Amino acid sequence: TRAVVLFTSDLRLHDHPPLRAALAAAEEVVPLFVRDPAVHAAGFDAPNRSAFLADCLADLDASLRRRGGRLVLRSGPVAREVGAVAAESGATEVHMAAAVTGYGHRREERLREALGADGVALHVHDTVITAVAPGRVTPSGADHYAVFTPYFRRWSAERLREVCPAPRTVPVPDGVRGEPLPSRPAPSLLSPGLPEGGEKAGRERFARWARSGMPAYEDRHDDLAGDATSRLSPFLHFGALSASELVQRARAGGGPGAEAFVRQLCWRDFHHQVLAARPEASSRDYRTRHDRWRTEEEAAGDIAAWREGRTGYPVVDAAMRQLRHEGWMHNRARLLTASFLTKTLYVDWRIGARHFLGLLVDGDIVNNQLNWQWVAGTGTDTRPHRVLNPVVQGRRFDPRGTYVRRWVPELRDVEDRFVHEPWRLPEDRRARLGYPAPVIDLSDGLARFTHARGRD
Ligand code: FAD
Repeated sequence: TRAVVLFTSDLRLHDHPPLRAALAAAEEVVPLFVRDPAVHAAGFDAPNRSAFLADCLADLDASLRRRGGRLVLRSGPVAREVGAVAAESGATEVHMAAAVTGYGHRREERLREALGADGVALHVHDTVITAVAPGRVTPSGADHYAVFTPYFRRWSAERLREVCPAPRTVPVPDGVRGEPLPSRPAPSLLSPGLPEGGEKAGRERFARWARSGMPAYEDRHDDLAGDATSRLSPFLHFGALSASELVQRARAGGGPGAEAFVRQLCWRDFHHQVLAARPEASSRDYRTRHDRWRTEEEAAGDIAAWREGRTGYPVVDAAMRQLRHEGWMHNRARLLTASFLTKTLYVDWRIGARHFLGLLVDGDIVNNQLNWQWVAGTGTDTRPHRVLNPVVQGRRFDPRGTYVRRWVPELRDVEDRFVHEPWRLPEDRRARLGYPAPVIDLSDGLARFTHARGRD
């Protein structure tokens, strides 16, 4: 007997219930990845993520080859390709991870329809992409949690399924046609500091970080210059690491750092359960305040300055330049740059979310859109009117200006007390810096936002 395992956002062999179930049910399995043109058409294959994906696929193929198998890659509409591979290999069942996004749900429906017509069974496994499946814990009378803290309490009490080890062998039938694996896009299209992807790199990073980073995570995670977070987000985005396994390994290690890390992983599940219940929140306000955001046309100059990291607010500019250089940004930096765009410049959150998705190696429709909404005040923040002041944030999370100087070389020689407020320097020194004046006065931004808020 034969089975197909369709890999989607779960590019790993460890802790992979669909693969395990397929191997238990069939003598041979076809590990399959389909490049669907719909993903390309939706613009989700940004170069940085395509590079990381290419690494993940190459690593998955190498791991399968060490176990006597290989990865089969096909391109085309996913339901058609899975059906064709099932027919070519004589498979009677297909196993895959349960979807969370609207696109994923439509894919599941199309597969169910196409495979059902051919008499092939589709088995959809939950808790592959998240630690706790969306919809598993709900408040009474509602289909999802809209507030994080009560969700976290219930989530923490859930019993997670046992972590399954990577299989020793993966026997793959002969004669199933596959395409060559994709290579990374040209370096000129990529952020120069992009990390290497793949399950092997992810597991090594986690092991290293659990030893040396996690113990101090609680105290240091907001230190912009310290870079003290795990940087596991792209591995989680592509499923090269299992969120459930990370939660269990962190808990086993124990300590306040591990608890704080697990809490962040819960945020990931929290957003997944919101979007699973409200798929339209990927583009529409989750909770509208009837904002009349400034559009691309109305705010073209401000948006360009924000994107390019020349707003004149050093910590905002440092963060935007880090994003361009590394395809990644620190969470605190994401919060303050998003607040600056949506609340200080009063620009539509979708414009910022789109820019992030074009560059972030972990760019993720669930976490990106819902975090943007959280910051914009249209999402699940219980204090939707808070505005982050970039000078206060800079002084607090980058007190010596180390992060700013790393990314904004124009300010390298500026003393600590001016580094977050270079406009306070004497005029002649300021002119020599070659660094822009602020695009907006913070009090004007606040007044506009407060006025708009009044229309709630
Ligand atoms: P760590 O601090 O080490 O946290 C561990 C893991 O917890 C992360 O890898 C991530 O999977 C999860 N996590 C942490 N914070 C959050 C959060 N607020 N929401 C959801 N999951 C979280 N994260 C993405 O994975 N993809 C995105 O596209 C994305 N866009 C964002 C946009 C904005 C405006 C904001 C404010 C946050 C966004 N985040 C996104 C969440 C967060 O910033 C990143 O997950 C985190 O910075 C990744 O770095 P890390 O792996 O070192 O995190």
